[in-house]
Amino acid sequence: MTRAAHYMGDRTFVVNGVEPVPPGPGQVRIDVAYTGICGTDLHVMHGAMDHRVHAPAVIGHEMSGRIAELGADVTGLAVGDPVTVIPLEWCGQCPACLAGHTHICHRLTFIGVDSAGSMQNSWTVAAGTVVPLPPDLPLRHGALIEPTAVAVHDVRRSRLAAGEHAVVIGAGPVGLLIGKVAQSVGASVTVLELDPHRRAVAEEIGLSTLDPAAVDVAAHVREHTGDAGADVVFEVSGSGSGVRLATDLLAVRGRLVVVAIHPVPREVDLHRVFWRELEVIGVRVYAHADFEEAVRLVHGGQVPAGRLISRVVPLDEVAAAFEALEAGGSVKVLLDCGAAA
Ligand SMILES: [Zn+2]
Ligand SMILES: [Zn+2]
Repeated sequence: MTRAAHYMGDRTFVVNGVEPVPPGPGQVRIDVAYTGICGTDLHVMHGAMDHRVHAPAVIGHEMSGRIAELGADVTGLAVGDPVTVIPLEWCGQCPACLAGHTHICHRLTFIGVDSAGSMQNSWTVAAGTVVPLPPDLPLRHGALIEPTAVAVHDVRRSRLAAGEHAVVIGAGPVGLLIGKVAQSVGASVTVLELDPHRRAVAEEIGLSTLDPAAVDVAAHVREHTGDAGADVVFEVSGSGSGVRLATDLLAVRGRLVVVAIHPVPREVDLHRVFWRELEVIGVRVYAHADFEEAVRLVHGGQVPAGRLISRVVPLDEVAAAFEALEAGGSVKVLLDCGAAA
């Protein structure tokens, strides 16, 4: 028997014993080391995704672990290998898949939301979703590869280049990761954040911050860029005010990257889009190459994964871990799912 945290609906989790799932052909079973909790998991806990997550359900998609068992026909992986997982499954037949954009498949399955996730000791997945980790990468850091891949994808889509100036609106985990990935391509970065604790974390990892409630951000960005404005703005706050500010900050032919999942339609200053020839770029999850770059950046230290992990909580205390994240003051909270011990 192994242990699994089940979302039971109504903000409740129950941790109990389950039989490990033996890997079928083309599958692997992973002993899970760590699973990170993110905003999506919080939405699930709040019941906002009950149309997709049918209790009792094991969720979780930001993880690291070691291969425990190989199914038939699996090559290129060995028992004991440290790995993470790209939590996507696509149909291969829809127009998006046929165009090569499998990560935005019309029938995309997000593993850990639409199917069983990694908040358990033992997890069986398709071998094709597995991404090997360097043997010397701490498994705790491996649990941050998935959110880092989000940031890598966002920066890649923005076409941000060395010498350009980027503004990140919102310094949650993804905003912080975007800031570090943007620096890794040689851009200068300003992070806007209302919360003083989040600003402090950003400063600690080498990101310049501004409090948009206290300073005239547009004037500051103009001053910093010789009156030009920002080349790229990443909207990570999910707020209407963030969207309004973003178009104000952008330079001629600047790019607005929509990272946050906005729950309602927002007003956009399309006159500004017209006047400055701005671009609006949508970004959703990641492709395989983004995971590989994320592994490289976390392994190389350009993304300081260890400094973004606020707490590690045993799997059995999953409810406390969600509470800690909800209470604020944490960046990443990881569940210790056992395999690192
Ligand atoms: Zn996530
Ligand atoms: Zn498809």
